[in-house]
Amino acid sequence: MSRSAHPAGPRYADVLPEGHYAAPPADLNALDPKVWSRTVARDEHGVVTLGGIPVTRLAEEFGTPAYFLDETDFRARCRAWRDAFGTDADVFYAGKAFLSRAVVRWLHEEGLNLDVCSAGELATALAAGMPAERIALHGNNKSTEEITRAVEAGVGRIVLDSFQEIVRVAHIAERLGKRQRVQIRITVGVEAHTHEFIATAHEDQKFGLALAGGQAAEGVRRALKLDGLELVGIHSHIGSQIFDTSGFEVAAHRVVGLLAQIRDEHGVELPEIDLGGGLGIAYTSDDDPREPQEIATALREIVTRECAAAGLAVPRISVEPGRAIVGPTAFTLYEVGTVKELPGLRTYVSVDGGMSDNIRTALYDAEYSVALVSRTSAAAPMLSRVVGKHCESGDIVVRDAFLPADLAPGDLLAVPATGAYCRSMASNYNHALRPPVVAVADGAARVIVRRETEEDLLRLDVG
Ligand SMILES: *Cc1c(COP(=O)(O)O)cnc(C)c1O
Repeated sequence: MSRSAHPAGPRYADVLPEGHYAAPPADLNALDPKVWSRTVARDEHGVVTLGGIPVTRLAEEFGTPAYFLDETDFRARCRAWRDAFGTDADVFYAGKAFLSRAVVRWLHEEGLNLDVCSAGELATALAAGMPAERIALHGNNKSTEEITRAVEAGVGRIVLDSFQEIVRVAHIAERLGKRQRVQIRITVGVEAHTHEFIATAHEDQKFGLALAGGQAAEGVRRALKLDGLELVGIHSHIGSQIFDTSGFEVAAHRVVGLLAQIRDEHGVELPEIDLGGGLGIAYTSDDDPREPQEIATALREIVTRECAAAGLAVPRISVEPGRAIVGPTAFTLYEVGTVKELPGLRTYVSVDGGMSDNIRTALYDAEYSVALVSRTSAAAPMLSRVVGKHCESGDIVVRDAFLPADLAPGDLLAVPATGAYCRSMASNYNHALRPPVVAVADGAARVIVRRETEEDLLRLDVG
């Protein structure tokens, strides 16, 4: 799918036949557990609750728009990944999906490691007490300052992304009198089955050193010669929102092939491989994500088989799920402001947020579900487009959805599965105030990232 599949202002007839919502769902009030977090339900009045708290109360107390994160679900997902991979593997949560100090503490407590890709993410991780040896630093253009801070802090690994960086990290480590554990990120030529804008392992892209043509092997050659570096493994990340393990199968085959080549050429067996993240989640009822256990079993089998064929000891495996952990654990709560019917086309439902709190629909044509959550309705389904309040016609939150025809200003809508890449990509477009993130656990709600204020905006504007 590409952006051109949805030219500006598609007509009712253009989108209906291929859209996910070609037919309205049987029951508009039903909440598909695939797309809603674990502790979401409807109470006896028809109001949706999170951890037992009605969304009407959450809206009153915390305002809208706001992200509500199910801490119980987040921790359960961490444990599911941890248990699936066991003690001879490592699970690194990809902090770029959503990071805050509370999240770092949960990860720490649940035994996960953490990927960061900037000084800001590193600072958040360290401020919340994540042990440095459990942090990995990523990025295709880490600054000298970022590398220095990571080496000084003693991060467990830096993932090297270019020839320049191999030398840069080695020099910084040597200057600090350290030997930095590193992996080299390679591109294995696998194109993940996903939207082209978010696929990252085919050759023509900015990340990593290409296996084809020998750049990856050359990177290994250079890294092994430098005293400041301890090369411990090879890293591969093939894309995002992937549902099929066949891409990982090809990637593992090629990574293990490189390990065998390194053994033959240098006489060393690198002890680690990282197969990256990118595991898909359900944004709509049509998505069927794999369970962590299924993924762990498949990856382990693949790596074991490939290593046996190459005569290598099985290295320590790590994976880096971001979206698959935090994505399904949160929903965004909005209040409906206007309802505008365009006869013969659709109804535009405007909410009090938009592309500033969820850019993914505009950026990737991402699909989301949406539900009326402040009450139930027996009204007929109405083909709707949920849009934001920004000065941009591409400011769409949910492109095609059926909502009850009696929808009115003041109703609350929730968009599920917004835990990943929504708050972390949020902007101040139109000087919007970025919404808070409220964590709910054991019947209690607390702000973990507060709402921005006009003072926050004005503080940066030095006049
Ligand atoms: C973004 C990223 C991830 C996480 O991707 P998800 O789709 O959130 O699982 C993991 N590893 C690397 C190197 C990444 O860049």
